[in-house]
Amino acid sequence: VPGDHDPTDRAYAEALDAADPLASFRDEFVIADDDVCYLDGNSLGRLPKATEEALRRVVSEEWGTGLVRGWSRWIDRPAQVGDRLGRAVLGAGPGQVLVADSTTVNLYRLAAAALDARPDRGAIVADPADFPTDRYVLQGLAAERGRRLRRLRAVRTDAVARACAPGDVALVCLSHVDFRTAALAPLAEITAAAHAAGALVLWDLSHSAGVVPVSLDAAGVDLAAGCTYKYLFSGPGAPAWVYVRAEQQRRLRAPVWGWFAQRDQFAMGGAFRRADGVTGWLTGTPSVLGLAAVDEGIGLVERAGVEAIRAKSVALTELVIALFDAWLAPLGFELMTTRLAAGRGSHVAVRHPEAWRLCRVLAEQDAVIADFRPPDVVRLGFSPLTTRFAEAWTGAERLRRACAERRYERVESVRPRVT
Ligand SMILES: *Cc1c(COP(=O)(O)O)cnc(C)c1O
Repeated sequence: VPGDHDPTDRAYAEALDAADPLASFRDEFVIADDDVCYLDGNSLGRLPKATEEALRRVVSEEWGTGLVRGWSRWIDRPAQVGDRLGRAVLGAGPGQVLVADSTTVNLYRLAAAALDARPDRGAIVADPADFPTDRYVLQGLAAERGRRLRRLRAVRTDAVARACAPGDVALVCLSHVDFRTAALAPLAEITAAAHAAGALVLWDLSHSAGVVPVSLDAAGVDLAAGCTYKYLFSGPGAPAWVYVRAEQQRRLRAPVWGWFAQRDQFAMGGAFRRADGVTGWLTGTPSVLGLAAVDEGIGLVERAGVEAIRAKSVALTELVIALFDAWLAPLGFELMTTRLAAGRGSHVAVRHPEAWRLCRVLAEQDAVIADFRPPDVVRLGFSPLTTRFAEAWTGAERLRRACAERRYERVESVRPRVT
């Protein structure tokens, strides 16, 4: 890539694509329309071709032909796929990760277990700007169990240390990457600060798993959860994951006593006796189809390597921030994402008073799929295995034109149910 470059020249983005070691991964995904700039892989990753194939096989062979006999293989899938996720993506040794249930349910059951383990501590430290489901789950648990939420001023180590200083905090629960601004939290430092005050830590890695390197074991994290349909390409509603650190599996008690967590499950005995290890954190019948999709998505990330994915993610966000300076700042946009590469995840958030109508114009007239987050934020998400530099460039250019030409003025401002 030429050292003396002009980011507003499309040739520059094309040169970055030509030099991109991950470029060929895009061919492994279904790209229904090459003209569409898909800048929403941080909400729903694209469909891998191998996943279409795997789902067909599981449906017709494993289910259609094998019928109920399939359970002898399926029964171990949540832990097997979990181990693979731990190894390839989470920096977690075997026996600590399960792929099962939804992120929301997993956050609830992990946070509940943490609170039960600290009955004499009345506070939960949370981020008031966190993803809605994370905030609601903690609000619900606080109400249900008579605890208080302590709102962090900022997701920073000093703020966490201050919030934990009174010594009454049971749990610190935060997202690794802020879903709105893309701010990347110092996970290991915050974990250490919370531990120093005797609190347990639960991280939501929905916006980082598969795109930001993490080492849950090395960072000393107690509990973590996240979804698989963003940077892990598993499809809408595919199962999420939980991480329960080995030593916490003995100390904490899973709140759901389901039959998949029962020791000697098929003896169907009268009393619940929780299985040892991470198996004791299973609940009920797992989504076998969903697990097949998760496994394929992890396989792609494993083959590319999270470090290489991260390097391209940084280069993509760098390019778009340069284009923001050249094109969007003069039109009244404001950059919400940090310019420090080490401090951000894989999207760039810009704000503009007409954000909502601009997103409509992009979707309806310009074949750009970005997303709007209230009140005035446009998120441009980059999924390095599928997003080309030229695609990111074109998305930013179409946003510039839609705004400069004031095309949003001709769009209705009524919002549908899903934004
Ligand atoms: C995407 C996301 C979720 C999704 O939760 P679901 O239970 O899958 O709906 C939760 N938390 C964060 C931080 C997310 O980014």
